[in-house]
Amino acid sequence: MTDLDQLASVLRRIDGRGYKAYKDIRGAYVFDGGALFIDHVQGDPFASPSKARVRLAASTALLPAELHRSRVRRVALEDFLARRVRSALRKRGTPNRGIGKSGLMQIDAGRQEVLERAAVRVSADSVEARVEVGLPAAGRRILGREAESMLSRDLLDSVREALVWRPEFAEEGAAFVCCVENQEFIRGELARRGLTAFVADGSVLPRASGVSDRPMAAEEAVGFRSPETMRVEFELPNPDSRYTGEDGSITGMGIPEGVTLVVGGGYHGKSTLLRAIEFGVYPHIPGDGREYVVARGDAVKIRAEDRRRIEKVDLSSLIGELPNGRSTVDFSTDEASGSTSQAAAILEALEAGSRLLLVDEDTAATNLMVRDARMQRLVDRESEPITPLLDRIRELYEREGVSAILVMGGCGDYFDVADTVIRMRDYRPEEVTGEAREIARTLPSQRGFGGVEPFRLPTGRVPDPRSINPLKGRGKVKIEAEGVDGIRFGGDTIDMRAVEQVADPSQLRAIGHSLHKAGREMADDRPDLPQLLDRLEELLEEESVDGLTSFGPEAHPGNLARPRRYEIAAALNRLRSLKIADGDAG
Ligand code: ADP
Ligand code: MG
Repeated sequence: MTDLDQLASVLRRIDGRGYKAYKDIRGAYVFDGGALFIDHVQGDPFASPSKARVRLAASTALLPAELHRSRVRRVALEDFLARRVRSALRKRGTPNRGIGKSGLMQIDAGRQEVLERAAVRVSADSVEARVEVGLPAAGRRILGREAESMLSRDLLDSVREALVWRPEFAEEGAAFVCCVENQEFIRGELARRGLTAFVADGSVLPRASGVSDRPMAAEEAVGFRSPETMRVEFELPNPDSRYTGEDGSITGMGIPEGVTLVVGGGYHGKSTLLRAIEFGVYPHIPGDGREYVVARGDAVKIRAEDRRRIEKVDLSSLIGELPNGRSTVDFSTDEASGSTSQAAAILEALEAGSRLLLVDEDTAATNLMVRDARMQRLVDRESEPITPLLDRIRELYEREGVSAILVMGGCGDYFDVADTVIRMRDYRPEEVTGEAREIARTLPSQRGFGGVEPFRLPTGRVPDPRSINPLKGRGKVKIEAEGVDGIRFGGDTIDMRAVEQVADPSQLRAIGHSLHKAGREMADDRPDLPQLLDRLEELLEEESVDGLTSFGPEAHPGNLARPRRYEIAAALNRLRSLKIADGDAG
């Protein structure tokens, strides 16, 4: 390694030369208490920015050891520090240092969710910020002096300001880490208590607007209050003055395992509750309003998504033989209907390992959800291939342990199959299980039940690794996120708009790299999809997202955040080129 003076002298030497000469600054430069690494140099001033890392020795950063003594704590601390680096860089602003991205300095910090991400890495002996910079140019000419003050002054000062632990933000940092630890503690307790989700009293579920994930202003929002009959209490490892007593006890609504129905008038907050639960699979930042809305980690939102592709999924438990005798045992289509797409989503979620399904009437296919007595009379069993979820959901719970939370304001037939019924009224939940039972007894639905084959749980399809290929044109790997809506994967774009539980574009990039890794390195022995997901999770557990790309251990891994296995599976299932090996389906 050379030192920062060396960087300055190279920059002076290449000042005024063509942009390509910036390649000469790649390398490592030490300074007192740390090092700057220039890992990747952009090709021109308009290209994606250059990638650099700033590492501070532990003895310089002085991060309190107790704030990273466990994985959960370390991830929370890293997320907190990434946010600090982002604000330090923003505070300094992006002075105009030339054309294109000249002068840009940024870091891939998070939004409302706290995720394991590549942006900051804390270890026993150092802390490292992985940043992006736009190397300054006028026309195509290098502005060496601008680059020098940007890299060795602005960048390093910002990172030091953000990462060196100081009393001014010590309390905030500790509270952040403790809050995330509390949330993960609750998640760990859910299964033990026979619960699928928890919504704390005092939570603020609605968001500021349809395009903002921030909380609705406290004056406008109706705070959450659990029905008495569903209230549970946890003793958290850390007190949190906004939600707990001195002793760290927190109360709220515990949704039990089984079939839970959320009913209520239109606009009374049903979907808002379900959405909070959907994102409750991730921890949230303090002040989000949903920081103590915690769902079991295997919760998967199921919805209809017509026109998607389906590759050899056994839909027969929900959709039997189609007109003209077409079997649905290994069903493929390039253009699914509402009901087939939702049936596929259910089978795929179960295949990936989920045992907790979330469904909202707003985004469900009605004919897959219900069929009432009158319709059963008019359209006989022989000419209706669909067995609605209504006739499967109890069986799924009782035989396979699959729980469900269903928002169904429009159909009382589900009263017959629900374990728990929650009615939302003026944004407040009431438990009305007893009432609903009574109504089901006095007003029978007169539907015909039974007579169907047992539900067939998926057994794991075997993907053909050659069909997972992110190469484009002349063999260049192309993996890019389109916001949270899609993944550019080679020549394909994987449509992720209906995969709702993606919290961050960096998760989509990580999913793209996961698929690449799976296809290239993990599938020689033809594992089935659940095994492939296990292997990816093992890698993520051991190496975190840093292990997904192949730039090596001493390099900026890219802007990545850890995805769940369910979203990795969802992307693979939507990859239009995916081929499932013959004979292994169903
Ligand atoms: P539903 O699914 O019952 O029709 P939504 O959940 O879509 O209702 O909510 C309707 C509107 O009410 C949304 O604009 C939402 O932001 C708002 N809202 C939801 N919950 C609350 C709340 N607790 N306090 C204030 N407004 C809320
Ligand atoms: Mg709704």
